[in-house]
Amino acid sequence: MPQKKQQFETVAVHAGQEFDPTTGAIIPPIYQTSTFVQDGIGGFRGGYEYARGGNPTRSSLETLLAALEGAKHGLSFSSGLAAEDALLRAVLEPGDHVVLGNDVYGGTHRLINRIFGRWGVENDTVEMMNLQAVAKAVIPGKTKVLWLETPSNPLMKVSDVAELAEIGHAAGALVVVDNTFASPYLQQPLALGADVVVHSTTKYLGGHSDVLGGGLVLDDDELHEKVRFQQFAAGAVSGPMDAWLTVRGIKTLAVRMERHSDNAQKIAEYLVGHPAIETVFYPGLESHPGHELAKRQMRRPGGMLSLTFKAGPKAARKFAESTKLFSLAESLGGVESLVGYPTEMTHASVKGTALEVPENLIRLSVGIEGADDLLADIEQALPKK
Ligand SMILES: *Cc1c(COP(=O)(O)O)cnc(C)c1O
Repeated sequence: MPQKKQQFETVAVHAGQEFDPTTGAIIPPIYQTSTFVQDGIGGFRGGYEYARGGNPTRSSLETLLAALEGAKHGLSFSSGLAAEDALLRAVLEPGDHVVLGNDVYGGTHRLINRIFGRWGVENDTVEMMNLQAVAKAVIPGKTKVLWLETPSNPLMKVSDVAELAEIGHAAGALVVVDNTFASPYLQQPLALGADVVVHSTTKYLGGHSDVLGGGLVLDDDELHEKVRFQQFAAGAVSGPMDAWLTVRGIKTLAVRMERHSDNAQKIAEYLVGHPAIETVFYPGLESHPGHELAKRQMRRPGGMLSLTFKAGPKAARKFAESTKLFSLAESLGGVESLVGYPTEMTHASVKGTALEVPENLIRLSVGIEGADDLLADIEQALPKK
């Protein structure tokens, strides 16, 4: 009988995770080492020479990242932005043009606009849900990267990866999807036609708010060589402890994402009817403009949702400072629930730009705690009539 393709859950536990042959330790050791002894000059054991170039703990994470999306290559970095930086350096030259979504992660916009901008790279932001606008924004031969994020942050807009990949490719651009919000369990952009997937592994992949990291996943051998060179030559690699913690987190990704999605759906449905709430942004709601598309391109709608308050910014701020189980903090994707006020937290860097977000908006990263406890916490923090 031919071997069936392994299920995601199985890959997440086993890919790149062979037990230690010398001791039988089921968990591969953390290779906390900077260099590797050579058997004579150039006699490397397993190809390892110096840890910026490669370390077995990092390799095990890179193998796992690629396997999660059925891809040929995975690369791991010290942060999500370090991964983005290495990719962009590998593909851009002065005079090139980047088109990115008008609500991409603020740090991505800052990197492309303020750092690559100084090196002569131009950019335009565009509404990725409007395919005609994207087709108009890409300049054949000049636009080298089309960068999208779905669901987006913090408005949870869902954009069509397959359609956008066609538009990008027709203009000769590399199509990059930041898959941080969905995670590879919920969404597989390469299978939808994208060329490169970016992850801030700090979020759902790590999943426990205890490690920073970034990943790139791609199929093209030539591009992989170019990015691998950037990783080695510029050096923003993940350390062994960080790589190991991320691997440990990934093993439970599937079960966590199921619970994140269950809890977020319940909370979204509760908030929709509440008199203090103006709008709930969650792709799992039928009223959400991206609901049907999300059903097609995602397994489930995930654990992130945003809400706006009828009474304005003061009510939003008060809510963010009144929850108890939802901790007021930047970041997302951990097992514990977080609440954020994007205008002054995650999106402070894009104030006054096209990426600015509403001031009465709150973002929730719904954790895996008991749903009733989370609902009770939200209820006590909402304005009383
Ligand atoms: C956090 C985040 C990043 C940046 O990742 P870091 O690990 O913080 O450098 C990029 N994209 C999205 C969508 C993020 O949420």
